[in-house]
Amino acid sequence: MSDSVLLVTPDEPPVTLTASRTTLIAQSRVFHDLLAMPSAPSSEPAQLVLAETEAEIKPFLSVLFGEDGDDASWRKLDEAHWLVVAKLADKYDAPIVRHAVRVEVWRRIDEAGDSFPALSLATHVGPASVTKAAALSALARGWNKKKGNLAPGAADRLAAWSKSLKALAAAIAVDYSDLRARVTRCECLTDGAKAWHGYLWDCLRAFDPRKPFPLEDIPLTFCSAHHGIVEAIANNMNVQYEQWMSPFPS
Ligand SMILES: [Zn+2]
Repeated sequence: MSDSVLLVTPDEPPVTLTASRTTLIAQSRVFHDLLAMPSAPSSEPAQLVLAETEAEIKPFLSVLFGEDGDDASWRKLDEAHWLVVAKLADKYDAPIVRHAVRVEVWRRIDEAGDSFPALSLATHVGPASVTKAAALSALARGWNKKKGNLAPGAADRLAAWSKSLKALAAAIAVDYSDLRARVTRCECLTDGAKAWHGYLWDCLRAFDPRKPFPLEDIPLTFCSAHHGIVEAIANNMNVQYEQWMSPFPS
């Protein structure tokens, strides 16, 4: 039996790509099922008609076949193409391509600037931990429905999750709102208690889902001893927030 498979695209005119049967079977569960069906022994390569155009399928195949080096075609992909690769990773159930997309997600989360593309990609390939990191970064930068091309249902799940995070931060802020009950008496608390309330409100208004209570924004009203204590309190609040945060819904 030939190890070659002919992949025929719906381009006008159709383009025929030759691919290794062994690699397709090893790297994609869908190709595995499509090609594993017993067929009459023949020296003719099997032929599969794809739904994707050559432009869509080529970057995906480039990752699937482990194309390496600086000139590998997947290295030059733009946002739109990465999104196609992410969708095909899911459609063809290809772990190696999912992995490549995740690496791209992490690269984009860490990159200064726009992290919406990272979230778009993450919702197609998961897992929840990667989607969560991308979602926190995107939410902190003001994500809204128009900006991302998310997997079906992901926008609604993200909206519900975002609400639950805000509610959690608000509940923690209420719990910690009475500063006098938590620290030793001191003159600095006369103005400090009020400043603390202002700080909590500001934190909720400018809600940062990655770290709702930024230590650097704590008001300078407190004496130096109490400033350190108040910092420790805000730090506890962030730790509690992280521990109680619900996982990104799948
Ligand atoms: Zn004090």
